[in-house]
Amino acid sequence: MVFRPHLKQIEKLKKVQKPGEPEQKEQEPPSMMQKASNIVKSSARYAGSGFKKASEKTKNERMEICKKCKFMTGPEDDPSCNKCGCFLSLKTAWATESCPIGKWSSSFGQSQSGGG
Ligand code: SF4
Repeated sequence: MVFRPHLKQIEKLKKVQKPGEPEQKEQEPPSMMQKASNIVKSSARYAGSGFKKASEKTKNERMEICKKCKFMTGPEDDPSCNKCGCFLSLKTAWATESCPIGKWSSSFGQSQSGGG
């Protein structure tokens, strides 16, 4: 099985930030290298969990918090986090993810008992 959601995110980042174009300084977004590193780490955590997804309720609650956050950026139908650089449609859907400034936490491990 090939797992490539992080590659999709990296391709999107390349389209958003053109070479030589200054980064937005207002909220000090992570560099391209840091964003790529964050995406790879997130993907590894997600794969390590066995691709555990957050519940739809948790995903929606996370997204509502993000919508009120000054670090949410990008188009309304495909926003990203200007703090970690992740695409929020994925970040909020993966159980292993957490907000980089502690506004919401990972749900991985919270409903693991009795599984199997
Ligand atoms: S993940 Fe956290 S920092 Fe990023 S937009 Fe959502 S609430 Fe804000």
